[in-house]
Amino acid sequence: MSGRLEIDLGAIVANWRALARHAPGAEMAAVVKADAYGLGARRVVPALRAAGVRSFFVAQLAEALAIADLVGPDAALYVLNGLMPGAEAACAEAGIRPVLNSLDQLDAWAAEGRRRGRELPAALQVDSGMSRLGLSPDELQRLRLRLDAQEGGASPLAGARIALVMSHFACAETPGHPANAAQIAAFEHALSGLAEILPEVPRSLANSSGIFLGPGVHYELCRPGIALYGGNPTPERPNPMRPVVRLFGRVIQTRVVPEGAAVGYGATWRTAQASRIATVGIGYADGFLRSNSNRGHLVWPGRPDIALPIVGIVSMDCLTVDVSALGHQDLPPGTELELIGPQRSLDAVAAGAGTIGYELLTGLGRRYQRVYLDAEEHETCE
Ligand SMILES: *Cc1c(COP(=O)(O)O)cnc(C)c1O
Repeated sequence: MSGRLEIDLGAIVANWRALARHAPGAEMAAVVKADAYGLGARRVVPALRAAGVRSFFVAQLAEALAIADLVGPDAALYVLNGLMPGAEAACAEAGIRPVLNSLDQLDAWAAEGRRRGRELPAALQVDSGMSRLGLSPDELQRLRLRLDAQEGGASPLAGARIALVMSHFACAETPGHPANAAQIAAFEHALSGLAEILPEVPRSLANSSGIFLGPGVHYELCRPGIALYGGNPTPERPNPMRPVVRLFGRVIQTRVVPEGAAVGYGATWRTAQASRIATVGIGYADGFLRSNSNRGHLVWPGRPDIALPIVGIVSMDCLTVDVSALGHQDLPPGTELELIGPQRSLDAVAAGAGTIGYELLTGLGRRYQRVYLDAEEHETCE
């Protein structure tokens, strides 16, 4: 085991409740794609389900199949990347709802429903300006024309029941970005075009950051991901969410080296004076990025006020830290040093490595001992 990753399920639930309070009147869903942002969907989903989450979103059908039993028949499970050709039967069989991203996907889903003699639920995504997924304005127009042209015959929508119309923000974490207003206007325009065909269908636009853009974008359902897991949805302001993860690495060995000693691959660091170097058993194969080389620091929980700088290149399986500032403090093998936690937030570590909390979390590797603090604060290990 390279280190210990502590995941606070109670904090995830508390974050979900805080978001729900922030958007009264809207359903607060939960995005659990990429194995709940790397934290373990099979642990996160039951905690959120018990707290009252009724809609879950993943990216891929395989992810949905892996948690469908935990979501159960009384909650909705959506696949954001939509329907891949040929996946219709598996998706319908498991009661999973695709987010339909094109007219072709809508047609394929409706045909599957007609084959089964029922209306299969799905979400319909419209592209409001991100140019990534969803029906283009042109496709929406074609859909309206087809529905207008239908004279007494079966509706092209027969077989599909649209349970949600959604779109996605590109710049929600920057409240002043002009793209936000433009996307809201484009979403409203698409909705008005669909109003006759799909009256009263719940609408959804906001991800975590979108929730903080104001009540006008909450609509009937919000889709937070990163804020549940402790990332700051309002990067221009202090983080309103509770931290969820703590990451500890273990000291493998320490050594005292003379002034001018080279540390690590490429000899990119040389000590300015005699120094004590600790080697910690976490490396880039554990998702602790190589871009942390010669940047950032760890702390020993016994003296959280003292920063222990990362020196040298981060290796695959270990990294080196200058622990001289701890003086003669004994750091025997197995001593834990904190990489992410109260002293260094997820977002700060990510920024220091030139990335974002999303990438850091989803990249944390498989070699950690994962310790879950459940909603009742009991520890369970995996
Ligand atoms: C990932 C994703 C979300 C969640 O986004 P966060 O920024 O993590 O809250 C919501 N909607 C869609 C379409 C997504 O792809």
